[in-house]
Amino acid sequence: MSAYNGKYAEELMATAKYLATPGKGILAADESTGTIGKRLASINVENLEYNRQALRELLFTAPEVAQYLSGVILFEETLYQKTQDGKPFVEVLKEKGVLPGIKVDKGTVEIYGTNGETTTQGHDNLGQRCQKYYDAGARFAKWRAVLKIGITEPSELATQLNAQGLARYAIVCQENGLVPIVEPEVLTDGDHSIEQCAAVTERVLAACYKALNDQHVLLEGSLLKPNMVTPGSEASCKASPEEIAKYTVRTLRRTVPPAVPGIVFLSGGQSEEEATQNLNAINALDTVKPWTLSFSFGRALQATVLKTWSGKKENVDAAQKALHVRAKSNSEATLGKYGTGNQEATATGKESLHVKDYNY
Ligand code: 13P
Repeated sequence: MSAYNGKYAEELMATAKYLATPGKGILAADESTGTIGKRLASINVENLEYNRQALRELLFTAPEVAQYLSGVILFEETLYQKTQDGKPFVEVLKEKGVLPGIKVDKGTVEIYGTNGETTTQGHDNLGQRCQKYYDAGARFAKWRAVLKIGITEPSELATQLNAQGLARYAIVCQENGLVPIVEPEVLTDGDHSIEQCAAVTERVLAACYKALNDQHVLLEGSLLKPNMVTPGSEASCKASPEEIAKYTVRTLRRTVPPAVPGIVFLSGGQSEEEATQNLNAINALDTVKPWTLSFSFGRALQATVLKTWSGKKENVDAAQKALHVRAKSNSEATLGKYGTGNQEATATGKESLHVKDYNY
């Protein structure tokens, strides 16, 4: 038995190819109700549905941003929300050529007998949920698995459980018409070197692609969302964008088959500017890269937007302009053309967005 070849095969390949259009990337706006609450608290805004809707409306209706986006990842609540004028968000996005996606995992739980390692839950009723989300207009999905670097971590148990879990999620998505974004995030927490991050990321990705293959996932109808290979957040030795690019692309070349159309990085607590510069260096690297290398950033697209907005109607225009700056910069970076640093980048754009043990 080879890869998935059911009724959605052609559509999945077309969707994945579209999501991986060079020059476009993905806006991750799928923070769960708990996570968005923390973001809103940072700008003194209450975690009410009204405020969550207002933030998402600001993001999805920002003028001239859609040209830089192929998809937006939504949380379930947002998939069914509308603008103040009553237009479903799904329609707003589709009209602009932006595909709606959906977070389908249910967060992480600790694996017994490990040093605080986790696996991701959400396989129960996953097929039914995917069917419902497809009917509501979603065309791709996201599932985040989390691995950490320690003296004995990631353990073989955590590596295998997460790889199997991602593969099981991916094939269930495909059976229901959703392109799975496979996200095995190796956290930046710790004082490890870039070489250690490269070795761990390589091991984790190799395990994932073995599991995806074993479970007959159609790689052409999937995307990968990995961490960039960087030194740990507490490491004494920092790395340049060129070094990060070298290790990141080397790791991906060793593990990700060319059948995968696109690799969309998470930002993982990097500052907005760092994430853009690293993505640019990755694309500027002179070597064979058989996939589109783009972004699926959450924090690195939204941090300045949030601060600028601060929950006030009169700031919506300025906040949308801030989103435009980041989306355009990252679009340029997907083409390796963001050479000069962004003149418009604010102080916020340079702030680290790292949070220890980050939950999404
Ligand atoms: P960050 O870019 O904020 O790391 O988040 C992206 C994401 O979707 C994590 O699942």
